[in-house]
Order: sequence, then C-alpha cells, then structure tokens
Amino acid sequence: MTKPLVYVTRKLAREVIDELREVAAVEVWEEDRPCPREVFLQKAEQAEALLTMLTDRVDEELLTRAQNLKVVANMAVGYDNIDAEAAKKRGVTVTNTPDVLTEATADLTFALLMATARRITEANRFLLAGEWTSWSPNLLAGQNVYHSTLGIIGMGRIGEAVARRAQGFGMKILYHNRRPKPESEERVGAGYRQLDDLLRESDYVVMLTPLTPETRQMMGEREFSLMKPTAVFINVSRGGTVDEEALYRALAEKKIWAAGLDVFQKEPVPMDHPLLTLPNVVALPHIGSATYQTRLEMAKLAAANIRAVLEGKEPVTPV
Ligand code: NAP
Repeated sequence: MTKPLVYVTRKLAREVIDELREVAAVEVWEEDRPCPREVFLQKAEQAEALLTMLTDRVDEELLTRAQNLKVVANMAVGYDNIDAEAAKKRGVTVTNTPDVLTEATADLTFALLMATARRITEANRFLLAGEWTSWSPNLLAGQNVYHSTLGIIGMGRIGEAVARRAQGFGMKILYHNRRPKPESEERVGAGYRQLDDLLRESDYVVMLTPLTPETRQMMGEREFSLMKPTAVFINVSRGGTVDEEALYRALAEKKIWAAGLDVFQKEPVPMDHPLLTLPNVVALPHIGSATYQTRLEMAKLAAANIRAVLEGKEPVTPV
C-alpha cells in the first residue's frame, strides 16, 4: 500500500521528519525561504497532510485544489494564515501548537517590554556609534518597570504567563478580554477592565489577542489617544491588530512614549517603513517563540497532530 504524502513547508529537525516517515511519505521544502505559492499548491494537490508555517496561506483556492487533504498542522498557535471555516466545511482538520510556546513567547514579550522601557537597543546603538562621551543625569533615561501598571489585552495562555513575570516586578496587572476570566484574576491577581479604562490606566499596554475579524486594527487612533503620554505599547500578537499609521502618528506626536513591536502588518517589514525611523521603537523580526527548544517542541507537536489524523485518531491540538 502506498503511504500518504505529508508535505512540510520548511526544513525541520531530523527526528521530527523521521517520526513522520514511520507513517507517511514525507517531502520537505528544503530552501531557507518560504515555499513558493505555486510549489505549495502543487504539493497540496497530492498531499493528505500539510505541515505549514505562518507564512503559508491556506485558503479557498488551495483547499479546492487539495482534494486528498485531511489535515493542516500549523507550526504556530495563531492560525490567521488558514481559512479554518473553509477547511471545516471540507472536512479538513486544522491544528496549531498551543502551550508549548507559551513560556518562550512570554519571555520575549517581557524582554521587549524591558528593552523598550529602558531604551536598550537605542543605548547599544549610541555606544557603538562612539557617542558616549560622558555620564549625564538624564542620559538615555527611560520609564520605571517595577511597581508600574501593566494592561494585557488578550489574557490567554501567553497573557497569563506575561502576568506571572510581571508579578515578580511588583506590577499592578489589568486585563481586557471579551469576557472576564475569574480564573486568571485568581491565579495572577489581575483586574478586569473595559478596553478604554485599561488604556487610560496602564503604563504598559501589551497586545496578545489572536488576529480575527474582531481584533483587526483594534488599536487605532482613538485607542492610542486614550493612553498616557508616558505609556509604552507592546505588540506580540499579529501586525494586523494595529493600525500602523495611527501608531506612527501617536509616537511621532509624543501621544505615547514608545513601542516595542515583534510583528508587523507586512512581514518582513519593508526597510522604509516609517515606524523603523523612530528612535522610540524597538522592532523585532517576529521571534516570539524563537528558542531552539521551543521550535523543536512546536515541530514535534505539529507532527504528532499529523500522525494522529493519518492513523484515524483524534488530533492532539485541533483549533
Ligand atoms: P489564547 O490562549 O487563545 O489567548 C488569546 C486571548 O485573547 C484570550 O484570552 C481571548 O479571550 C482574548 N481575545 C480574543 N479575541 C478578543 C477580542 N476581540 N477582544 C479582547 N480579547 C480577545 O492564545 P495564546 O496562546 O495566548 O496566543 C495569543 C496570540 O499570540 C496568538 O493567537 C498569536 O497570534 C500570538 N503569538 C505571537 C507570537 C509571536 O511570535 N509574536 C508567538 C505566539 C503567539 P476571550 O475569548 O475571552 O476574548
């Protein structure tokens, strides 16, 4: 009997591919750049399973052509690159990789918050440019992190892990979800706020919702105008949750103090993007979950989801 085809859109650890080879024929896009659309579509036509990255678009066009497809295992917790409704209608299972990336992404979120508050990247550039000629009282002065107020929009798995880190800094923790979450309030001592109140009260506003039609451009001109002039905005969700032009204006006109961004509307972010011209922006290339250990766990979980579906079992982490 011929084995089903699994197409993997990026090179992954050998042990992950070997695991899949026990139950399937596996083909991998080996180059160190995203799989081109045409190749992806052609492989999808033959495959029963796709192991995808957030750069791969799984839409109506692909699903129409992929008649043998049973499962799309996304190697990310966010799955806004996949039309999950269209997949469901066709009986295609979609899975993601929650939990295994929570702590690493929370670490990065906190690192970005600290770097932005204390102007770490700016200070490093300043030193390397040979501009450090003397100590001075307000040289590269930033904002206090300890005992400040953190507002988390999207108190989910990662939001709560960020809140646990904030407890160590004695921060007051506020959050906004569509519904209050008493378990988080109990676990991390967070207080629920309507969005506008959270924006008014917080020194740090951290965006951690998924990208959905509801959260698209959730942070716009009106929202930034409610924030304190000393406040810092951090986005580790998806670029689409923020109106980048409004954010640029808020920063340039000093309506807010600084921003730390791991994600952008268009990725890789174009080098002439206005946000990159501002000294009070710390910009990162979407590295939230990028630790060796976490990326391996994500790949293993995606492979386990594929194996389960191909073996006729329940997937481990369906969306
Ligand atoms: P999660 O556990 O599902 O948490 C998401 C939270 O967002 C939930 O508590 C949800 O609460 C809230 N939410 C959803 N829609 C909302 C809305 N319209 N208004 C307010 N709150 C809303 O997900 P997670 O594992 O923490 O991951 C969160 C997101 O982080 C992912 O979807 C992904 O986009 C992003 N992420 C980025 C990176 C990176 O590398 N930068 C890495 C990992 C994850 P309610 O349902 O009660 O509203």
